[in-house]
Amino acid sequence: MTDIKCKLLIIGAGPGGYVCAIRAGQLGIDTVVVDEAKPGGTCLNVGCIPSKALIHAADEFFKITHADKGPLGIRAENPTIDLSKTIAWKDGLVDRLNSGVAALMKKAKARFVSGRARFLDGKTVQVTGDGDPFHIRADYVVVATGSAAVELPFLPFGGPIMSSTEALSLTEIPKTLAVVGGGYIGLELGTVFAKLGSRVTIVEAEDSILPTYDKGLTKPVVKRLGELGVALMTGTRAQGHQGDTLQTDKGNVDAEKVLVTVGRRPRTIGIGIDELALTLDGPFIKIDKTCQTSMRGIYAIGDVTGEPMLAHRAMAQGEMVAEHIAGQAVEWDRRAIPAVCFTDPELVLCGALPGEIEGTRSSEFPFQANGRAMTTEREDGFVRVVWREADHAIVGLQAVGTGVSELSAAFSLAIEMGACLEDLAGTIHAHPTQSEGLQEACLRALGHALHI
Ligand code: FAD
Ligand code: NAD
Repeated sequence: MTDIKCKLLIIGAGPGGYVCAIRAGQLGIDTVVVDEAKPGGTCLNVGCIPSKALIHAADEFFKITHADKGPLGIRAENPTIDLSKTIAWKDGLVDRLNSGVAALMKKAKARFVSGRARFLDGKTVQVTGDGDPFHIRADYVVVATGSAAVELPFLPFGGPIMSSTEALSLTEIPKTLAVVGGGYIGLELGTVFAKLGSRVTIVEAEDSILPTYDKGLTKPVVKRLGELGVALMTGTRAQGHQGDTLQTDKGNVDAEKVLVTVGRRPRTIGIGIDELALTLDGPFIKIDKTCQTSMRGIYAIGDVTGEPMLAHRAMAQGEMVAEHIAGQAVEWDRRAIPAVCFTDPELVLCGALPGEIEGTRSSEFPFQANGRAMTTEREDGFVRVVWREADHAIVGLQAVGTGVSELSAAFSLAIEMGACLEDLAGTIHAHPTQSEGLQEACLRALGHALHI
């Protein structure tokens, strides 16, 4: 390929990079996106989408295999799962979405280039791939190179030691699985394999799973893990793996496979940012309110810029950066970024937790008092609202319960629009839905809940 000149070069076509490319294209900016892998990044290829596909498959299998024990009168004779078929279905979804993202970029007239980019200077990168290396020169560069799994020195990836990427492509269900790290990925995938029939042990260094969340919120998840037969070893450190055994400081754990999910690191190595001397924030690229780095003309978005490492944050940053480059007076002014952990039951959080902001209080409404939750046989969990005493402004919303991920839109909308308790309490919520729990939590905060 011959050298390319453009106005905007985006390195990485993950949720941050491809959304930035689409928006830049819509705004008429001459844009090139380079990625060494298929469009969609971690999220689409080995993250959000594949994990949610497997969570769905495991849920379906678990429901069928356990129907006999339930109260609905359903009987199922010896159901089985062929995991290689499940994985083929998941791969098919990923392929469809790869093509979809490529088509969206093309429609916006952003050009996708395959290869690995490395900065030569602040406006030029060298791209290496299948053919001869070539250069791309741009007025603006957006670094959207994402993140990679953290490796533990005493559990190097390979063979039985897996990162999430390998775990999402297993074609056989391991008899025993140890998950090191009880965070987002470990809990989501640990639950998948427990439901598929593996004997799962989760080894977490801190004294609880999802240690940054309060124990009230994680309690229903811990209870359910117990019901699913998952052994939870908190305050425990893994030390190594030999044979089919994981060694920890609290004893040995049976582990045909080990899934290491102890966080993700920014992908800054090998892209030449050392030569540019960009200012870092810990291991991440430091950015300002417009996602500009310490070097003029270079922006950074998504996981490479730090927590929260979520696809929708990367997308929102990508959109904003394209508008900034187009000359619009935009900056990062979002009030809250929702986070969903697709465990069983699901967790959704937006804004402040109880006690995080002075002068706030919180109220909960339990799903035990919600008709819809009863009809789905899952009454565990609650909706919680955190509000400011002075003016009843809602500053935080959380829920734990089956299917509550869909409440994330109402949560972020309420906080983004500056809603107060009276706004949500006075909004008609359809019956019977779990979203009534949101209204009831606000009514309860006002002292007049109706269904409890
Ligand atoms: P990435 O998606 O990591 O994309 C970066 C891209 O840059 C990659 O395609 C990579 O190939 C490319 N690249 C890197 N270096 C170079 C180079 N030098 N040259 C060319 N190309 C390069 N988030 C959620 O919000 N919801 C979820 O449910 C969720 N589930 C997840 C499940 C798993 C198992 C994992 C691992 C992550 C999950 N995440 C989830 C996190 C989400 O995937 C990331 O936050 C998101 O992908 C970050 O987007 P990004 O654009 O910053 O980077
Ligand atoms: P995480 O930060 O969520 O959890 C890592 C866990 O590992 C923590 O609980 C930590 O205390 C523990 N830990 C660290 N070192 C350990 C050790 N040596 N031994 C035992 N435990 C140890 O990280 P993750 O699960 O790898 O996920 C990475 C990121 O990906 C998340 O921060 C999240 O932003 C993103 N993600 C999001 C979703 C979602 O939105 N549903 C799903 C998956 C991943």
